[in-house]
Order: sequence, then C-alpha cells, then structure tokens
Amino acid sequence: MLNLMISALIGLFLIAACQTVQQTGRSQFIVVSEAQERQLGEDAYKETLGKQPISGRSDWQAQLRRVGQRIAAVADKPDYKWEFNVLQGKEVNAFALPGGKVAFWEGIMPIAQDDNGVAVVMGHEVAHALARHGAERMSQAMGAQAIGQVVSVGVGKVNPAMREDALKAFGAGATVGFLLPWGRTQESEADRIGLTLMAKAGYDPAAAVAFWERMSKVAGDKPPEFLSTHPSDTTRINQIKEWIPEARANFRGK
Ligand SMILES: [Zn+2]
Repeated sequence: MLNLMISALIGLFLIAACQTVQQTGRSQFIVVSEAQERQLGEDAYKETLGKQPISGRSDWQAQLRRVGQRIAAVADKPDYKWEFNVLQGKEVNAFALPGGKVAFWEGIMPIAQDDNGVAVVMGHEVAHALARHGAERMSQAMGAQAIGQVVSVGVGKVNPAMREDALKAFGAGATVGFLLPWGRTQESEADRIGLTLMAKAGYDPAAAVAFWERMSKVAGDKPPEFLSTHPSDTTRINQIKEWIPEARANFRGK
C-alpha cells in the first residue's frame, strides 16, 4: 500500500516536473518551483553584492538601468523585482537571475559599447532566467533522488544543504564558485529569445552579430569568463543572423 502511494506520488510529481519553455515550446524537466527559483536568485544576488563592490562609473550604472528597464518592461514578469548593477572588476561577465536581479561586470561594458550592445547581453541573460535554464540545469544535476530534499522544505524555501549547488546552477558568477557552462540548447534558446526581447524593447537585434564578433576578438589566448560559460563561434553568429528577421517582426520603436 505504501509502495503504491509512493508510486502514485512519483507519477504525479513527474507530470508536474515536465514543463515547457513558453517562448519556444521546448519541453524541459524542472523540479524546482518558480517561487523557489526566485528565492535562490535573490540569495545569490545578495551574496554577490556582499562580496563585489559596485562600480563607481555612474554613466555605466545609468546605461544599465536605462536598457534594463526597457527589457524588463517587455519580459512579462510582474512578480520580478528588477534590479540592475554594474560591479567593479575587469571580468568580462554578466548574469540575470530569476526574480530579475541583474549584474554586469565593468569588463563587459566596453565590449557592449553602446545601448544596443548592452541590450544584446541583457536580452540574452534575461532570456536564460525567463526560460528557467538555471532550474532546468539544477533539476538535471540533482536527479530524481534530490527532489524530495528540495521540494519538502516548501514553496519559496530551499533546503540549505542544497543551496550552494543551486546557486552554482544559476551561474551567479565567480563569487559563488565554479561556473558550469550552459548547454548548447540553452545558449541557442537564450540567443533566440534575447533577440526578440531586445526588438520588443525597441533595439535593433542586428547589434547581436557585431557584439558576438567583438566578443570573439577579445577572447585571445585567455577566454574571458563569459565566453567559457557562453560558447561563441561562427555557428552561433550564423544562427543569430537567421533569427534576426523573426525578431525584427516584434520590433517596437521607441
Ligand atoms: Zn548564455
């Protein structure tokens, strides 16, 4: 009887665990609720800001907020509490966490170059959060056995023992340990959704081609952190070129 009940629960659980990426229709296996994800995002952000001083470049801070607010306005996430900060440091890195917490390191700003370039990175990173890639990666890494451990703690809360792994899964930067590279599927998906987001926000998605070309030039012999987690190659740039017309169909001029 107990076994039957457990089987039934696991069955129910697996149905609940099968999700779909709204923007692309791709199925994904996710065992973390959106509330738990937001909580993890907020924790990871607090941890990062506790260790990394904020940049004194007020022009960059203003630029990040200006672009970020336009992307946020088309992201359709009323429950996100958006926050944008440029952090001190030469790292070529950026992230957006579930819950709307965004950080760019100073090192990526000159490569982004202008508002369009910032919108490319912003669109791409926000897309990772919207498509729940961190939760997906975490769910795959933990496997079914860990499900109970995370979920039993309740909505919006995460078992402290799982927290560190969870933060890593969200790619919250060098400050919380090593970074797992995003998978190719997730990268392509973030590119595609990101292009549409930037177009909806009134930026020209063609800026993505120039941005990724600049990124591949700065790579040199020591690839920046952003490139070790976000693979950059000609396949990606060609794919982006193919998606530009689709993204431009969503363009809303400002
Ligand atoms: Zn990415």
